[in-house]
Amino acid sequence: MKIKLCREKRVKPDYSKLGFGKYFTDHMLVVDYVDGKWSEPEIVPYGDFSLAPCTTVLHYGQGIFEGLKAYKRPNGSIALFRPRDNLIRMNRSAERLCMPTIDTELILKGMKELLEIDHDWIPSQPGTSVYIRPTMIGTEAALGVHPSKTYRFFIILSPVASYYANGLAPTKILIEDKYVRAPLGGTGEVKCMANYAASLLAGDLANKKGYDQVLWLDTEHKYVEEVGSMNIFFVIDGVVKTPALVGSILPGITRDSVLKLLKKFGIPAEETRITVEEVYAAHQQGKLSEVFGTGTAAVISPVGILGYKNEELVINGNNMGKISQMLYDELTGIQYGEKPDTFGWIERVK
Ligand SMILES: *Cc1c(COP(=O)(O)O)cnc(C)c1O
Repeated sequence: MKIKLCREKRVKPDYSKLGFGKYFTDHMLVVDYVDGKWSEPEIVPYGDFSLAPCTTVLHYGQGIFEGLKAYKRPNGSIALFRPRDNLIRMNRSAERLCMPTIDTELILKGMKELLEIDHDWIPSQPGTSVYIRPTMIGTEAALGVHPSKTYRFFIILSPVASYYANGLAPTKILIEDKYVRAPLGGTGEVKCMANYAASLLAGDLANKKGYDQVLWLDTEHKYVEEVGSMNIFFVIDGVVKTPALVGSILPGITRDSVLKLLKKFGIPAEETRITVEEVYAAHQQGKLSEVFGTGTAAVISPVGILGYKNEELVINGNNMGKISQMLYDELTGIQYGEKPDTFGWIERVK
């Protein structure tokens, strides 16, 4: 690993107004892929890249990313949550987009080194963390649709507060019955940039109607899929249900952690196909007691209102439910070291 530290530390933002993804630490990790192999990872000062206007990623969207967090614990140690799972998923995204895979152990080592160098940027207030964004882009300078011959992999770090401006307050989600996020056989099950570009219009229209995000359905507008940056869970008649990973849904690591926690606590849970009609009927019959999203950025995000065909379905009186709260406490407890890590999910940085 080559390390080039910056001469001057940058001025830190006001840590009481961190928000999400607005500030970046002093350094970043960069690795280039040229002539069929990866170069040695380098840690360099955070700064702009210079790319030719014809660079492939700028035209054909050959780009993937990941998102995970590092937590500063009361004793000063730094903990990562299931980082290998993110890097393994990144390699699956790479394969789907004809990009080279990375050496997950080498990159994990580089990530830890970067976190140690910029450790003074990691906030320590409750609910805060450093959001880690590994990214890979096609960098060949040529037009023409084909896989790039060269790539850049990089990791940047952003000190963050809670994902939603109002913390754990229940969100308002619109069930999207026109646009779709991902068809079967498409790229919905990997974390590629284009999935997000394709989702913006629906999200924007939903925002204008007063909703935070949309809940995507499958291409026939029959089955529930996910929220675009979060997987979705419903508690129907005491059973926790989440859409099965049929090929168009991102396999979230928080989703998987929630399923494992539910099993541990003996709460009945199912991965299954869920129709939007089933959700609506459960609400009409008073059986839909909780709805929540899961994702690294927001951890557990309670849904207070579901918009569906000009109706607003209020969930649990627009309050966070018991199971959502328990899962939030359990997951964040493991991440911040207040609860035992019985699944071996925590990777210490130092
Ligand atoms: C990242 C992401 C999620 C959440 O995945 P986690 O691993 O839990 O952070 C869910 N859906 C989509 C589309 C995503 O990109």
